[in-house]
Amino acid sequence: MNPIFAALPTTIFDIMSGLARETGAINLGQGFPEEDGPLDVREAAAAAIVAGPNQYPPMRGLPVLREAVAEHYARLGDVTLDWQREVTISSGATEAIAASLLAVVSPGDEVVVFEPMYDAYAPLIARAGGVAKPVRLMPPRWTVDDATLAAAFTSRTRAVVLNTPLNPTASVFDDAMLARIASLCVAHDAIAISDEVWEHVTFDGVRHRSMLTAPGMRERTIKIGSAGKIFGMTGWKVGFVCAAPALTEVVAKAHQFLTFTTPPHLQSAVAYGLAKPAAHFDAMRAGYDISRQRVEAALHLEGFVTLPCQGTYFLNVDLRASGIALDDADFAIRAVKEAGVATIPLSAFYASKPETGYVRLCFAKRAETLNRGIDALAKARRLFA
Ligand code: GLN
Repeated sequence: MNPIFAALPTTIFDIMSGLARETGAINLGQGFPEEDGPLDVREAAAAAIVAGPNQYPPMRGLPVLREAVAEHYARLGDVTLDWQREVTISSGATEAIAASLLAVVSPGDEVVVFEPMYDAYAPLIARAGGVAKPVRLMPPRWTVDDATLAAAFTSRTRAVVLNTPLNPTASVFDDAMLARIASLCVAHDAIAISDEVWEHVTFDGVRHRSMLTAPGMRERTIKIGSAGKIFGMTGWKVGFVCAAPALTEVVAKAHQFLTFTTPPHLQSAVAYGLAKPAAHFDAMRAGYDISRQRVEAALHLEGFVTLPCQGTYFLNVDLRASGIALDDADFAIRAVKEAGVATIPLSAFYASKPETGYVRLCFAKRAETLNRGIDALAKARRLFA
């Protein structure tokens, strides 16, 4: 048995969703929208299944989707891509991250990551033979000083994995932060693996910027996007890998032996969806924003203190500032069992010495679900304060 995976716990997302199912709790833990995504996009997939073809699509993805990805980012994002040489379709962003790490990292290479970090990164880096070098972002704004950031980069640094907007902190790396990381990547000849799956989910006028646009990074960034996040259909697992041709060549070779390709009907339906006008994506963002403000306001009325949320559909509660003495893992377990609400403890996003004072809530839910979740959280606060 491989010791890296044998030693791993089941993901916190699966554990908390399992407990929510068992106990009938409101699930504000694992991040997925309650609404099932645009009907016309789902109908396009259904029609494509019936009409076929249902055989292997090209390894790098259907041309119609690769073209649609390039068109979408040129129109609504900040990057221009050559769809034939710079776009590969993966089976979700997690596969894209795995393929990117396998393509870039050799045994002994160091990979800089930002903590708290999405739980898949560290095990995938280790399995690629790499050594994760965590840079700790400090709450409440999840920032890091220059000296700490620079100290993580060494002569052995091969890559940096970043996530902006950042799950679980709900913070967004601004131009200055991207430029700081970029200059270290250039100085150390490192590749940025940039997980930008939350690119469309930002609030309060904050705009997502791709690492591909940072100074010196066009040739050394692998940008990863996700239809699951863009359309609120997390089960689809359709990801996009965008990188300069030389990088794309190698990532595609890793991808061809992971999943090889991705269901063709989902690909053609995503191509259809990506062509939607800006108004569609604005409306999606506005819908999430209403939920975000509803949850923030209701939680504050109940005596909770929350951290700023610039992006993603997650909101973090500061337990201590909210008058709750439990650490995050205890709170999460007791809240699901005793108060009927599932949350995600942020300590699950650290390799060592975690922050233990925060839990993450997913607010991509219907108003009535959010109301019931908030009532349950208020009950938890009364029980544990
Ligand atoms: N991205 C989701 C989250 O952050 C979880 C995905 C998963 O369960 N693997 O909650």
